[in-house]
Amino acid sequence: MTLLDRMKSISPTCILCGGQNPTETTDHIPPKSIFFLKQRPRGLEFPACRACNQGSKLDDQVVGWFSRIYPDPEADAETKELNKLTKSVQRNVPGLLAELQATDSQLVTFRKGVPAQYADKHVLSADGPILNEIVGCFGAKMGIALHFEKTGRVVPVEGRAAVKWYTNYQAITGDIPTDALSLLGAPETLQMGKWEVSDQFQYSSAWLEDGRLSLHYATFRRSFAILVAVFASNADLIEGLVENSAGVFQPGWLIDRQPKFKRLKMW
Ligand SMILES: [Zn+2]
Repeated sequence: MTLLDRMKSISPTCILCGGQNPTETTDHIPPKSIFFLKQRPRGLEFPACRACNQGSKLDDQVVGWFSRIYPDPEADAETKELNKLTKSVQRNVPGLLAELQATDSQLVTFRKGVPAQYADKHVLSADGPILNEIVGCFGAKMGIALHFEKTGRVVPVEGRAAVKWYTNYQAITGDIPTDALSLLGAPETLQMGKWEVSDQFQYSSAWLEDGRLSLHYATFRRSFAILVAVFASNADLIEGLVENSAGVFQPGWLIDRQPKFKRLKMW
């Protein structure tokens, strides 16, 4: 049985668009682009239609790059990969690098807010609309996939994923609710035998067995973290969980996203 056949047997319809399209591909969530030299252990592979799979290609590339912001790569090959990735992002998402330039007042806030050992770090602005849209879309995909992984249920079209995300600045200043997040359970990662990638990706989840609600927290190196609340019905949306979110997404959002990025060049 091929991997795609296995995907079709798990779900004959795409788990990302609420089953609107048939399963045509295997979607790796998180994508290979997150991992150094694209070396990703097996696991967290999902049945997806072509539109949903392709619709997130640019998000995957940008997030793969952004997840390498901190700490710096160690091996030469990793530095080379990062440089290539930076060029691809520059070419594919005009405006993003400019948007990331911190303003003088952001620099002042940063230096006042962090302990001395961080004061000389390069600072990026994470407030801009381009980055927030991309991380939001990426986070929704991650949340909807993990909902399926944990509950075995496809989030229906009337469901929603509410995404919040944090930067390493918020980790340093204690603005991530780590006590509350520890209730989500022990962190997991991708693992094959002794090979595991928790230094690059970790997640923890909590969910209701009936699939009405699930919560997922995932970290990507020490660059950023996402918190996603997934609801099987729009009627179940809990205000407190949606407040301050980077966006609320409805299954199918990736189908419309594809045409924008048709001329995407991968690195
Ligand atoms: Zn789909």
